Amino acid sequence: MNLKERKKRIQRWIGVGADGDFGKDTVAKLEKVLGITEHLKRKLPPQRPEAVEVGAEFDKRTEKNLATLHEVVQPAFRKLVRAARRELADDGLEYRALSGTRTWEEQDKLYAQGRTKPGDRVTKARGGYSNHNFGIAVDFGVFRGGTYLDRSRPAEAKEAHERVSAIAKRLDLNWGGDWTSLKDYPHFEYDTGLTVAEMRKRVRRGEVYL
Ligand SMILES: [Zn+2]
Repeated sequence: MNLKERKKRIQRWIGVGADGDFGKDTVAKLEKVLGITEHLKRKLPPQRPEAVEVGAEFDKRTEKNLATLHEVVQPAFRKLVRAARRELADDGLEYRALSGTRTWEEQDKLYAQGRTKPGDRVTKARGGYSNHNFGIAVDFGVFRGGTYLDRSRPAEAKEAHERVSAIAKRLDLNWGGDWTSLKDYPHFEYDTGLTVAEMRKRVRRGEVYL
């Protein structure tokens, strides 16, 4: 298939006149389909198109991690990301979910790091002892133009997480930056009203906790 035929196919696909010429109508429709129009309307910082799934609201990694959450808490976290992005857009910052639910097995592996396995210790919790094991917690990252600020400019990232935490409070999500011992600024979690020990017990008994 030659280039003109392929252009026609794209035009048919997105529902504009298939003349094989990418004029104003085709470009406008492509901008809409690719989410560029919506993105600019919301004044969100620029994103590489390949980082976004067609039709998805957020970048691929964020969508993937949000999808791992317990379905009851997903709406609150989606609202959080939406509002956080709006809040940070003027400063050219982007907010992404870097980690969502971990299985107990994955948590055990992480726990072994720096203990029985090489690497730095990254968690105090073994499998079943982290809110991440119950689908109710997310770790976020602050980015500017693809640079991960939590690593390169931690003070600036911390300030961004703090601004997001004000939004989180309105959504009844707790922030790791409010913890008294070992603050975890990128961490947000849904408050089930139960302790992790109680949730662990319920899961073992096959009972619901949310
Ligand atoms: Zn976390």
